[in-house]
Amino acid sequence: MDGWVFDIQRFSIHDGPGIRTTVFLQGCNLRCSWCHNPESQAVGPSVQFFPDKCIICARCVETCPQGAQLVAQGQRIYVRDRCQTCGACVDACYAGGLIIKAKQMTVAEVMVEVEKDRPYYEDSGGGVTFSGGEPALQDEFLLHLLRESKQRGFHTAVDTACHVPWEALAALLPHTDLFLVDVKAFDEATHRAGAGVSNRRILENVRLLAASSVALCIRIPVIPGFNANAAELGKIADFLAGLKRTPPVELLPFHHLGGGKYESLGREYPSRALQPPSDEAMAGFLQLFLERGLDATRAT
Ligand code: SF4
Ligand code: SF4
Repeated sequence: MDGWVFDIQRFSIHDGPGIRTTVFLQGCNLRCSWCHNPESQAVGPSVQFFPDKCIICARCVETCPQGAQLVAQGQRIYVRDRCQTCGACVDACYAGGLIIKAKQMTVAEVMVEVEKDRPYYEDSGGGVTFSGGEPALQDEFLLHLLRESKQRGFHTAVDTACHVPWEALAALLPHTDLFLVDVKAFDEATHRAGAGVSNRRILENVRLLAASSVALCIRIPVIPGFNANAAELGKIADFLAGLKRTPPVELLPFHHLGGGKYESLGREYPSRALQPPSDEAMAGFLQLFLERGLDATRAT
C-alpha cells in the first residue's frame, strides 16, 4: 500500500500532545485563500521553481525532455504548461532552484521515518499526526498508516478539514486517538467565498465526531476579511457550544508563512494584502468562545 506524501516533519509540537512526527499527505479538496501549503493542494506532484535560488547553470534546460526549462536573454523561464512532472530537472538541479515535494511512499517507508523519534514520543506523551492537504482523501492509505501506527503503540492524530463523506472518517475512528478539525466558517456563503466549497458536510461531520467518543480539538484560523469578525466567529462559537460534547478550541491567527510558495507554483498569492489580526482583536475573539463556556485558547 502506498500513497502521496509531501512532507514529514519531526519534532512537531503544535499537532497534538507531546513531541510528534507530522506526516503531510498530498491533495486537498478545499482552496482556502490563506493556505500556507499551496504545494499540497494538487493531487500528485507539482514542480516548484525558486528564481532566487537559481544560478542559471542551465543543467535543467539540458535535462528536460519537454523543453519546459529555458534560458532566454539571461533569464530562467519555466513553461509549466509543457511540464510532465517527470522530475529529471529536479534531480539535475543542485542549487535548490527546482523541487518536487510530493512523492509516493509505502506505509513501511513512512513508518521508518516515524520510528526515528519513538523515544521522544515515549518521554513526552507524543506520537504521530497525519495532516495534509486533506489526509482523508487518501482514505485507504491513511487507514493503513493509522493501523500500523497503533500496532506499534503510537498515539495517533488526524488533522482534517472534514470535507469528506462521513464513512471515510468513521472508518478511521477505531485507529485514531485524536481528531484535529479545522472549522473555518459557519455561514455557508462565507465558507464558499474563502475555501471554495460548502461547509454543510464539514459541520455535519463535526457533529458526528462530537457524538462519538474520540478525542476532538477544533482549530479555527482567524482570517481578516473572511471570518475575523464577532458575527462570524460568534456563530461558530454557538455551533460548537451546541454540540453533544464541547471540544477544546484553538484560535490560530492569520500569518504570511508560506506566501512565497505561491510564486514558486506560478500562482498569485491571494492573501498578500492581508494583515494579521492584532493581539487586542484576538483577545476579543477568544472572549466570544470563553463566554459561551468553551475551553478556548489562542495558538501561538
Ligand atoms: S538546474 Fe537549477 S540552478 Fe541550474 S538553471 Fe536550472 S533551476 Fe537554475
Ligand atoms: S519535471 Fe520533467 S518535464 Fe517538467 S520541467 Fe522538469 S524535466 Fe521538464
